[in-house]
Amino acid sequence: MYYKQYGNTDMKVSAIGMGCMRYDDEDVKAERFEECSEIVLYAHEKGINYFDTAPFYCNDKSEIITGMALSQLPRDSYYISSKTNLGTIGGKSTRDAFRSRLETTLSRLKVDYLDFYHLWCVLNLDSFESQCESLYGFFEEAKSEGLIRNIVFSSHMQGNELEDAVAADRFKGMLIGYNALNYRFRQTGITAAYEKGMGVVVMNPLGGGLIPNNPKTFEYLAEGTDLTVAQAALNFVASHKEITITLAGCTTKEHVDDACKAVEHLKERPAREIFEEYENKGVALNNLCTGCAYCKHCPKNIDIPKYMDAYNEKLLGNNMFDRLKYHWGIPSEMAAECIKCGKCEKLCTQHLPIIDRLGEISKGA
Ligand code: SF4
Ligand code: SF4
Repeated sequence: MYYKQYGNTDMKVSAIGMGCMRYDDEDVKAERFEECSEIVLYAHEKGINYFDTAPFYCNDKSEIITGMALSQLPRDSYYISSKTNLGTIGGKSTRDAFRSRLETTLSRLKVDYLDFYHLWCVLNLDSFESQCESLYGFFEEAKSEGLIRNIVFSSHMQGNELEDAVAADRFKGMLIGYNALNYRFRQTGITAAYEKGMGVVVMNPLGGGLIPNNPKTFEYLAEGTDLTVAQAALNFVASHKEITITLAGCTTKEHVDDACKAVEHLKERPAREIFEEYENKGVALNNLCTGCAYCKHCPKNIDIPKYMDAYNEKLLGNNMFDRLKYHWGIPSEMAAECIKCGKCEKLCTQHLPIIDRLGEISKGA
């Protein structure tokens, strides 16, 4: 395993971290937690020492499963990260609500302290500022009591907004979605964080499965290597000198092996160099929908992720109307119901021109 320094802390973390949100669905439903926890133990055996979990993952069982596994290991042999925000504490910005959530997480994980506690899922700068205002003091208090070692945040903000969040100088690190699809508009943010001495952890390195599901389109990532497209996509992210940890969601031991292989011969390079290399190839795509579904709750009930998934097909050289009709079974005409309120575009993690795309779809084949 390849290890990196987490920002300006003294922590040496594995270049691959385990994202604990992909435990086997069937095992979770049947409460076969022992089987799920074996994946954590296997990852640890392979040198992974960073485990990322949160309330609500895996039917709210992820923290329990992860704790069940990690409590069998020496506490100083791993780093554990979890998350909170106003949504996890019932919208109440009170000390009691914050503490109760934190205590539940600590008890589920069977630890006395968290190595990293995230202000979770900050969608934009306004939300960042208001949640900092409401909750940051509670984070600091918990840190001063030794319940949290590092206060960090996770976000879908784009480059320039991320730069402002970094400039606030309140966090030891951040967790962001970054991959071969969206790297253009997040790169200035990760560079700013790196230069500030923050750790940078990356989620969604496979673009919501879009990269491995379209191996032909993304085979350029694996060119000249013995890696699969999925491994190459992990390697793409992990090789950024500015990125500390690349999270891989692992359901099976094979997934762990795959992720470890991706960084076996890792060569770190500055983001700028990687950016230029892919731009020169002229093949990089960052205009695809990753299916993250952050744009849901359209006032006209348009199922935006499905329409944008169909539009992906067009961008990948296929027929988007076939996708709508035969895969999703939804009519192209419904896209015309869009009233252009712009709500979805503000939330879109890929910053896609959803309104224009719906307009194009609504015209039909
Ligand atoms: S812009 Fe259109 S698709 Fe987006 S939320 Fe508004 S009505 Fe729905
Ligand atoms: S349109 Fe944007 S927010 Fe919606 S699913 Fe796709 S990438 Fe996510």
